[in-house]
Amino acid sequence: MNLPARPPVTRSRHRHLTRRGVLWLGLRCDVRCKFCYDEHIPTAEKGWLDLGDAIQALEKFRFHYGNEFVDFMGGEPTLHPAILEIVAHAARIGLRPTVITHGMHLAKPERAHAFAEAGIHDFLVSIHGIGDTVATIHGRGKNNAERQRRALDNLRALSIPFRFNVTVIRDNLTQLEAIAELAGETGARVVNFLTFNPYFEWARTPEIDFQPRHSEAAPYLARAISTCTRLGIEANVRYLPLCQLPGYEAHVYTGYQLPYDTHEWDYNSWYDTGYPGSPSAQWYYQASRRQQNRHDYVHVPACGSCAVREICDGFHAQYVTRWGGEEASPYTGPPVTDPRHFISEQDKVEYDTPSASAAHDHVAPAPVPLHLDAGGGAKARHEHSTRR
Ligand code: SF4
Repeated sequence: MNLPARPPVTRSRHRHLTRRGVLWLGLRCDVRCKFCYDEHIPTAEKGWLDLGDAIQALEKFRFHYGNEFVDFMGGEPTLHPAILEIVAHAARIGLRPTVITHGMHLAKPERAHAFAEAGIHDFLVSIHGIGDTVATIHGRGKNNAERQRRALDNLRALSIPFRFNVTVIRDNLTQLEAIAELAGETGARVVNFLTFNPYFEWARTPEIDFQPRHSEAAPYLARAISTCTRLGIEANVRYLPLCQLPGYEAHVYTGYQLPYDTHEWDYNSWYDTGYPGSPSAQWYYQASRRQQNRHDYVHVPACGSCAVREICDGFHAQYVTRWGGEEASPYTGPPVTDPRHFISEQDKVEYDTPSASAAHDHVAPAPVPLHLDAGGGAKARHEHSTRR
């Protein structure tokens, strides 16, 4: 078997702008995660993106936006009838393809092997729990945890890199450290802890039983980050106000830090803004601000005196309605306007592509302060913004 060569992996504290696009292939899925946004969409409306449309989008990502990586989102993208052709096309034009998946279909060695032959770069596997918790969260399926473990073993045997996504909810708080241990045991390079985002229909649900308070989740997140660090795994916490993990801010990514995570999505191609190539750091700062408004993050009164308020999303509006903003803990000191302020202290996995090397030589200037209001934002909804 001739598998494609993989770029060398390094670790770096140099933060440069992400070159990763994202393409939704359709919302069909064979599990029903209890926190999924797509459950509110009728099954009849869940189709698959046509192969031709997928190829057209990939060409635009690569040749208009200059992306070098692409994430395939679902639903469950491994169920797309043309997924192997789509992956192969991305790889062929220089977009290193990642599939975001629950992973269970990769428990079949021949399926994992087919992705290797198609040129998959890596998988982002959703590991929301350990043991029976997996099936409970999934709501469907048999032997879910065992199938995921077999899939990870298959990927490792084929030298296909993988990362973990964990949606942090009440059900798995006590398992976050064990998930970090599983990452170490199986060879995952990165674990992303995604605090639950009450977007879209969830935003109108005042009492979501699986939604933890930030102060409830924080001690578990801190221990899981420490476990990852001990095991040499990159740990990221997404969508948490910066002050909620004191001492661990280097791992925390709100919408302002996301453009500097090479595993995250390029706001330019994500929203198909039309800007050719690579916009400036200032452009991404403005895009982060739009994202903060789009997803209904708000600053609470205590944020008004906070030194990092210009690089922090604050709290989700639904969260504030439910619990208020008394958990906010403003930073003192001079105003901070560079989103890289904390994350420049984090060692991150880097893929040494030729253009990434070029990016290393270019140090982006710090964005100009924008003097954000402490109040809330717009109510815009982006149809393709659901997160895994
Ligand atoms: S006080 Fe507000 S602006 Fe400051 S870190 Fe906390 S949530 Fe962010």
